[in-house]
Amino acid sequence: MRRFTRRSFLTTSSIAAAAVVIGQGCSQQASNQPAANSSSTGASSNASSNSSSKVLRLYSGRHYDSDKKIYEGFETKTGIKVEYIEDDADKLIERIQAEGANSPADLLLTVDAGRLWRASTEGLFQPVTAQQAPNLYSAVPENLRHPQGHWFALSKRARVIMYNKDKVKPTELSTYEDLTDPRWRKQILVRTSSNIYNLSWVGEMLAVHGEAKTEDWARKLVANFARPPEGNDTAQIMACAAGIGSLAISNTYYLVRLAKSSKPEERAAFEKIGVFFPNQGDRGTHINISGVGLVKTARNPEAAIQFMEYLLSPEAQEMFAKGNNEYPVLKGVALDPELAKLGTFKESTVSADTFGRNNDAALKLLDRAGWK
Ligand code: FE
Repeated sequence: MRRFTRRSFLTTSSIAAAAVVIGQGCSQQASNQPAANSSSTGASSNASSNSSSKVLRLYSGRHYDSDKKIYEGFETKTGIKVEYIEDDADKLIERIQAEGANSPADLLLTVDAGRLWRASTEGLFQPVTAQQAPNLYSAVPENLRHPQGHWFALSKRARVIMYNKDKVKPTELSTYEDLTDPRWRKQILVRTSSNIYNLSWVGEMLAVHGEAKTEDWARKLVANFARPPEGNDTAQIMACAAGIGSLAISNTYYLVRLAKSSKPEERAAFEKIGVFFPNQGDRGTHINISGVGLVKTARNPEAAIQFMEYLLSPEAQEMFAKGNNEYPVLKGVALDPELAKLGTFKESTVSADTFGRNNDAALKLLDRAGWK
């Protein structure tokens, strides 16, 4: 696979035609300077001499090297070349809007249901039906796809309670709701309310409990914060290991990264942390998703749907799951061994469409509750 910066992309003759199309989009937001890339294998060199229908263009809000192996796998299998741009998902949404009918994007790939919901609401996607993509529908459960097929989950991440093993016993923990108990005063570490993982998590609370009860919960949770929110999920785990608080809210893959870290201090932090899957006695632990949707103006919808189905194949699902230590959507796919060690759990089935829809309401509510 070759990776191109925008400058080299434009001067590399073998892919110049496609690069110019994507490059036009770049010029509209030059300050962002997202990298334009081509995942190119032996098979794709056959494709490059064919018509433009053999090139698929992907805008991705994911930033994992492992994703490129998946693109290569598709190229090898189909001879369809994959070109991709990676950037912040919100910027990619704006970019597709700005490009309008001229957008080169066939597919938009993002993390978090909130962004997928936003892209869908802004009219960026077109539906993919069960007739067009039976494998997509059989692989992705109903709660993890848009009701009209605007987007489909590719991987799952669990938002759990992590605890400092020196300070907390797992038997002291039960539910997200119970985090408001006064015994956790100055103990809870969590990132800012504007973070989209938190918005989807609280969006699920809204769906389950309604506004008044969720706002009351949020106020009491804020009262238990160990410090004003700062940093990402990794920062919460590190602070928890350092004893700044005794509980941290985080997606599981951040902890697995620490387990595999080359830095001794990160592996030492991992050793101090336990994982608790909340709400096992009722609705289950909150699950967020990475997902993909077919762009309304896609030039190659058939190839795009073929790619979407490939993303849900056992081969690609295993790469997805292991690459970023996430949970596969397709049943029967092996987990990363470090992730598997965290144990099995009951997942909430509140639909990603519902908590994605609730993101805006969650942000307003958390603002009122004083969650910075
Ligand atoms: Fe993340």
